[in-house]
Amino acid sequence: MPFSLKILGSSSATPAYGRFPTSQLLQIEQEFFLIDCGEGTQFQLLRYRCKPNRIGHILISHLHGDHFYGLVGLLATMNLGGRTEPLHLHGPPPLEEVITGQFRCSETWLHYPVHFHPLEPVASVIFESETVTVSTVPLQHGLACTGFVFREKPRKRRLNKDALPENLSPHQLRRLKDGKDVHDEHGNLLYTNHQLTLPPRPSLSYAYCSDTAYHEPIVEHIRNVDLLYHEATFLASEAARAADTRHSTTVQAAAIAQLAGAKRLLIGHFSARYKDLQPFLDEARSVFPATDLATEGSTFSLAE
Ligand SMILES: [Zn+2]
Ligand SMILES: [Zn+2]
Repeated sequence: MPFSLKILGSSSATPAYGRFPTSQLLQIEQEFFLIDCGEGTQFQLLRYRCKPNRIGHILISHLHGDHFYGLVGLLATMNLGGRTEPLHLHGPPPLEEVITGQFRCSETWLHYPVHFHPLEPVASVIFESETVTVSTVPLQHGLACTGFVFREKPRKRRLNKDALPENLSPHQLRRLKDGKDVHDEHGNLLYTNHQLTLPPRPSLSYAYCSDTAYHEPIVEHIRNVDLLYHEATFLASEAARAADTRHSTTVQAAAIAQLAGAKRLLIGHFSARYKDLQPFLDEARSVFPATDLATEGSTFSLAE
């Protein structure tokens, strides 16, 4: 089952060279999380044939415009599209006022419930389902800003099709999937669960580190993630500017990935001053080889 990330935008504050401001769509099994929602996100969803009505949660890292100016438009489109399913919106407390104020002024009444969950800039679990736990990571930026960590819960063992006898009933198959042994109608043990199942695939994890200065305390929250996104607004030569604006450079993002023991790194939030992104890749890979650019339309699938 899927664990897949689609990049919708990779630009920092001002649009440049066809790049859109930050947004990503993460699918874990049948749950869809939209992470940040820069201007134009709904056009990017259309472009890459992602269905907005499948999104159950929208998470906004902070209230710089390049991370949420696309939100009202997207929520309104969901309304026009006939959405009735509830939507969970997670973001800094003032976001609620921004959204309700804009809808009030435009006399737009949503036909679906939006449940607003205020985020505080501390590490905490903000959502939990049977499949996944989502936590916040405090980042260091000009205003309150949180990253997000998605960790799959331990998965169930898989049926071993080569070992399965043909005569098992649907009830017995269900028991196997639930990790139980198989008995006959008299309660006698026929097969142990381990005889007929394989170990589960490993649980996967993704960490999203939105706008942030180089900040080593992040590391303890994102240890050993399978996939890490960390912003890299500037090349290494602009370290002073990065520190001034509370952003990171390529090599700083790569250093965080290395310290955290991440398996793969994605970098994005590229400054409009750069057209060519190859130097970003080269610099980050010189520190952390398993790096890719989080550019528009890229998909990173950890499980099919
Ligand atoms: Zn930004
Ligand atoms: Zn920002």
